[in-house]
Amino acid sequence: MGYLSAMGKVRQVRIARRTGFCYGVREAIDKAKEAAAAGKRTHTLGQVVHNEGVIAQLQAQGIKTVDTLDQVFEGTAVVIRAHGVRPEVLARAESRGLDVIDGTCTWVIQEQREIKRLVDEGYSIVLLGTPHHPEVVGLLGFAPDAIVVDEESDWAKIPRRKKMALLSQSTQPPWKFEQLAAFMVGRCHELKIVNTVCPVTIRRQEDTIEAARDVDLMVVVGGRSSANTKELTRLCGIFGTRAIQIESEEDLVDPAVFDGAEVVGVTGGTSTPIEDLRCVAERILRLAGTPEAAAAAEELASAALMVAATPAGRTTSLPEFVAG
Ligand code: SF4
Repeated sequence: MGYLSAMGKVRQVRIARRTGFCYGVREAIDKAKEAAAAGKRTHTLGQVVHNEGVIAQLQAQGIKTVDTLDQVFEGTAVVIRAHGVRPEVLARAESRGLDVIDGTCTWVIQEQREIKRLVDEGYSIVLLGTPHHPEVVGLLGFAPDAIVVDEESDWAKIPRRKKMALLSQSTQPPWKFEQLAAFMVGRCHELKIVNTVCPVTIRRQEDTIEAARDVDLMVVVGGRSSANTKELTRLCGIFGTRAIQIESEEDLVDPAVFDGAEVVGVTGGTSTPIEDLRCVAERILRLAGTPEAAAAAEELASAALMVAATPAGRTTSLPEFVAG
């Protein structure tokens, strides 16, 4: 690594504020760890977080991911992840005698209640979301006839109805929700808009934009399929800062990526542990830092993390353990 860093120019790496897991993801992971720590055989229904490193860590603690309830034996603890599920799935898990641990994010529970209430009140539902995303699939369990739309090219399929209601998957970009709301004004007589974009998503975007303003390059860390991560990358570009998106520090192998960058910003999606951002910061400094920065990479990365972290837990709060 030393011969690469000798050519580097990066003298500082900054980590965006309020990064790390969102509270929904953190709670679901903690619930799974708690169950396993209490000696329960514990499964999560679907990956509890879109992050391979965290999944491997949970597996090492005896927590298995299953795709369907059929893979779970009676008496096993099954953790519902933050995205939530259709109500039938919960009912089925309970009727099969599984120990259901509901990790559905409180924000998503609120969305589910809102959408159901609007259906009961006779509104035709339009949901801004990614089709087949688990949160959207769960919401459709409460509003089976809802029309799911994503990109603007989909919007023409929204029919004209008298009473319509618009909601959003929690991680959709606020600007898209606003544009769709404006589009729908002309499609119906009565339009109810319930803004269900999660505040964590909005804050994450604001903090990323703030970090991007003062750096030469942004590194966005998160799963390739994570929509909220892609949106962060896109926003950096809109605000005029070059951005690259990676899944982990292992994706950083070419120091040329940092050519011309003296100060680099790091941010991450809501499923990216803040520890991963520290590792990325250290890797950048070792790979492309000035000789001084590369030599002090570990300390500088830890200092950047301290600046970014707030007292509110940024990681899961339970001590690590290895299942016996
Ligand atoms: S992004 Fe928001 S709604 Fe989704 S799990 Fe995280 S906190 Fe909950």
